[in-house]
Amino acid sequence: MFNRNSVFVLDTNKTPCDPTHPAKARKLLSEGKAAVFRKYPFTIILKEESKPTKKYRIKIDPGAKTTGLALLSDTNIVFCAELEHRGFQISEALTKRKTLRSSRRNWKTRYRKPRFLNRKRPKGWLPPSLMSRVHNIKSWVDKLIKYAPVDSISMELVRFDTQKIVNPEIQGTEYQRGELFGYEVRQYLLEKFHHTCVYCGTKETALNLDHFHPKSRGGSDKVSNLVLSCVDCNQAKSNKLPEDFLSDRPKLLEIINKQRKQPLANATAVNATRWKLKEVLESTGLPVEVGSGGLTKYNRKRLGISKYHWTDAACVGVSTPDTLNIRNYQPLLIKAMGRGSRQMVKPDKYGFPRTAPKLRQKSFYGFQTGDIVKAVVTKGKKIGTYVGRIAVRKTGSFNIKTKTESVQGISYKYCKHLHKSDGYTYNFGELVKQKTINFVQKVEQVLDTPVQLNLFDISELTTKSKSKAKRIKRKKFDGLDGKQLSLF
Ligand SMILES: [Zn+2]
Repeated sequence: MFNRNSVFVLDTNKTPCDPTHPAKARKLLSEGKAAVFRKYPFTIILKEESKPTKKYRIKIDPGAKTTGLALLSDTNIVFCAELEHRGFQISEALTKRKTLRSSRRNWKTRYRKPRFLNRKRPKGWLPPSLMSRVHNIKSWVDKLIKYAPVDSISMELVRFDTQKIVNPEIQGTEYQRGELFGYEVRQYLLEKFHHTCVYCGTKETALNLDHFHPKSRGGSDKVSNLVLSCVDCNQAKSNKLPEDFLSDRPKLLEIINKQRKQPLANATAVNATRWKLKEVLESTGLPVEVGSGGLTKYNRKRLGISKYHWTDAACVGVSTPDTLNIRNYQPLLIKAMGRGSRQMVKPDKYGFPRTAPKLRQKSFYGFQTGDIVKAVVTKGKKIGTYVGRIAVRKTGSFNIKTKTESVQGISYKYCKHLHKSDGYTYNFGELVKQKTINFVQKVEQVLDTPVQLNLFDISELTTKSKSKAKRIKRKKFDGLDGKQLSLF
């Protein structure tokens, strides 16, 4: 039941104490000195008063689909999680509603006429799909603050640090020559050229840094002289002057020249959602440290850590320690599920009612859709034990979605609550084994590009790591040695 994350501990007054090792928590529970307070994240409550001794920092790497979360104390990762957002589901549902309503208004019916366009959006408004991401993260930050003595927050705010690219002088010579500068520039170029080869427009491929005016012909290392190019174009161009290489495409030459000299301010990767998130996090009253994506990547490389959402989170900001151990960690996978639909009747494609109205009642026999239960079925065809998320029905015959299967028709009589619905569903990610770490580092070394583990089947990786590595290399990255940029 325990993952390798630490267990959160509350004292008898519900004040957060130092998170503890699962084994210690198990001992406290079996000796009757504590009780289970909450299943996800696993939290126990002591039967006496206690005080925290350490300080903890929440670190966040916000993403469009998945956000990485990590809780750090000194050089230890205490808790790690990956939070999956609902974003696209929300915008799809809203679009569907909008089309149905607007088509309905063209009929001669009792439905109301469209309102005159007199509504304004409040300042700082963001689309619901983006706002839901901010709310998901805020809700988890609030939870962590409730269960652990957190005193600071770090988040990744921008992909790259414009300040550092424009004025590398102010950062000192060490920085100018250093690797960090390279990471910021890479992130910047990826954003500026929209992850696309400037010569042929290819996307979704490994991209090289290209000196537009070749270095061998006196081109500078300045950012304005750097463009992105796919491997084929890069080889074709070789050390030709851009005027020669693009002699048959003068228009493209003009466009690239304009694009690469564009001032930085116009090509910033500042993302409205992240700014909003910063604002919301600051409302907790805790100091919020911000870092750039370039710095995160630099830290992760420096520490020799593989790429997961949660390891990226652990590497956010200058507060990142000099050593971090990720071995034997297993992230809690949190998926935002929503809390049911507001829609009373489901319409068919013409907008007519297709179903009976939704029941106003949400819970039946004490259970509600989204609860996580354990059902021990002792009679009938479905004898067995099932643990998972339930969908309730009025009849008392529920559906359970376990990790592997979806079981229908389980009576409420067999069900016991593990965790009440809170708008999320939970799972555990892959355990990070030393073997996996070694393998990923090897692949990254060979490819000179970060590898997102989730892209591959991890179970395959650990068993046939070597042959798989060769196959990946041949299949996807054949002949792509040299300075590559990550597209993952
Ligand atoms: Zn190309």
